[in-house]
Amino acid sequence: MKLDLDGRAALVAGASRGIGLAIAKALHEEGCNLALAARNRAGLEAAGALLGGRTSAHPGDVSDIAQAGAVAGDAAARWGGLDILICNAGDGRSVPAGSESEAEWRRMLDVNLFTSLNMIAAARPHMRRGGAIVCISSIAGMAALGAPVAYSAAKAALNAAVKSLARPLALEGLRINAIAPGNILFDGGTWDRKLAEDRAGVEAMLAREVALGRLGKPEEIAALTVFLASPKASFITGSILVADGGQLR
Ligand code: NAP
Repeated sequence: MKLDLDGRAALVAGASRGIGLAIAKALHEEGCNLALAARNRAGLEAAGALLGGRTSAHPGDVSDIAQAGAVAGDAAARWGGLDILICNAGDGRSVPAGSESEAEWRRMLDVNLFTSLNMIAAARPHMRRGGAIVCISSIAGMAALGAPVAYSAAKAALNAAVKSLARPLALEGLRINAIAPGNILFDGGTWDRKLAEDRAGVEAMLAREVALGRLGKPEEIAALTVFLASPKASFITGSILVADGGQLR
């Protein structure tokens, strides 16, 4: 299938590793010009070097609205506007369930909800009609699966925001969707660490909880993201698409 993404300008927030880097690679392979954002400049430069040409680096903490505004403004100035926004920044690590302090709640909402809300608000004025936003959420926002409490609540709020923003964004010619991944494995990521700590426990969980009986790959989330960002998904907006190997029942 030709996705018709050649020459489109895409901004990926959270692009320096893991799922976000796989999404950036996949969009780049489809011919997009890529604006890469994350807090750490060195990580962005390494990602840009890996992708080759047609990239720009925009360091910033997008849980802060002013920094999100600067990232989106600089990216749009570099590529002459924006067609695609990927809101991928997030972090599932938190304290044991039930022991959240108010500060921990705010930290988790900042990194897992406001990173996306800020990027949507900041990028929206720069996006051309026909553009698309994809937020990387989690199945943790759809059911109580043992993920950290504040993380699950933040992703549930993100899912609700995506559904409710579909109508106002449609008036601007924009679509918005979320992807809810299950457990995704890559070097240095959460599941790499969990496997190193307790391989037997992870394998037992996969056999018990996941229909396909395995961890997912970042490329499997990237493929769905690229499709949703493309004009081929022109009738899909306000949806939460699950890619979890059959864990959510
Ligand atoms: P990761 O390896 O920790 O990568 C997160 C990316 O976001 C990095 O590029 C990080 O770079 C950037 N980032 C984090 N906070 C940021 C901030 N405040 N401002 C700007 N950039 C920020 O995470 P991942 O495992 O690939 O997960 C990516 C997304 O998928 C997250 O939203 C996560 O909740 C979701 N998800 C992951 C899994 C999984 O199994 N891995 C499952 C379901 C959902 P810097 O540190 O340099 O800022």
